[in-house]
Amino acid sequence: MASDSRNATMNIVRSHNIRAQKKYGQNFLTDDNVLDMIVEAAGVCSGDHVVEIGPGLGTLTKRLAEKAGHVTAIEIDTQMIPVLDEVLAGYDNARVICADVLKTDMNEIALSYPDEKVKVVANLPYYITTPIVTGLLESGVHYDSITVMVQTEVAVRMQTGPGSKDYGALSLAVQYYSKPEIVVTVPPEAFYPMPGVESSVIKLDLYDEPPVKVNDPAGMFRIIKASFMQRRKTLANSLQNNQDTSIPREKTENALAAMGLDPMIRGEALTLEQFARFTDLL
Ligand code: SAM
Repeated sequence: MASDSRNATMNIVRSHNIRAQKKYGQNFLTDDNVLDMIVEAAGVCSGDHVVEIGPGLGTLTKRLAEKAGHVTAIEIDTQMIPVLDEVLAGYDNARVICADVLKTDMNEIALSYPDEKVKVVANLPYYITTPIVTGLLESGVHYDSITVMVQTEVAVRMQTGPGSKDYGALSLAVQYYSKPEIVVTVPPEAFYPMPGVESSVIKLDLYDEPPVKVNDPAGMFRIIKASFMQRRKTLANSLQNNQDTSIPREKTENALAAMGLDPMIRGEALTLEQFARFTDLL
């Protein structure tokens, strides 16, 4: 049986003469089960203010508005605005902001409904997944959770630890701020047009307090970024040669010795706890 959302999507595409824009990462979700699963995984309820990034044709937005206290949807593509006005006409609790999410003041948006928990829910534009997710995590906004569709490869990177080729700066940023959990893997057939990659829904449950203590979190993330820039180099070499850190080799080696670690160790072998301790020692 064809999905209702697939029929609705194709009708809107035809009636509004929509051309999915690759440059905006437009792959519209057309599978009812997956749409329901996202709303369910996010645990959206009437006490929530949901921030949706990239509502597109409003298929997910409608479902969110049915459950949430309020929905704020941020969409860059002006082509989508008349469609969203039409699709969301019956939902007084939903508003659309036409803007680039990377240039939007998320603190201001979060403060619009101060009594509601702020949850981010989205089928993200894949070309800017990392800047969106790290931007949200580092924004200082107290999000309750972030439930997003991303490329499976990126979802795996968010969840993994040392010893995997997928471990990197994104894994550490995500795990410093939240507990990640992959909810479901979604095939290309669930979208129109079909993306060239497999997708996954991942939920990040944000911590009230980070799981490790570090005196200078921004300094730790500068060290982490420099360590993974050339991941086959030793940590001491990476930190000495990187412009943002320029830490003399002996300093790194002394700190590693104090931690009982090999001075030739690579950054990719360090856990989040070890990066925190290392930063404090420096
Ligand atoms: N939510 C819709 C769905 O699930 O069918 C559309 C998801 S589509 C993968 C990504 C959406 O993000 C598109 O509507 C696209 O125009 C929008 N988008 C892309 N870049 C954006 C940006 N910088 N700021 C806000 N929205 C953006």
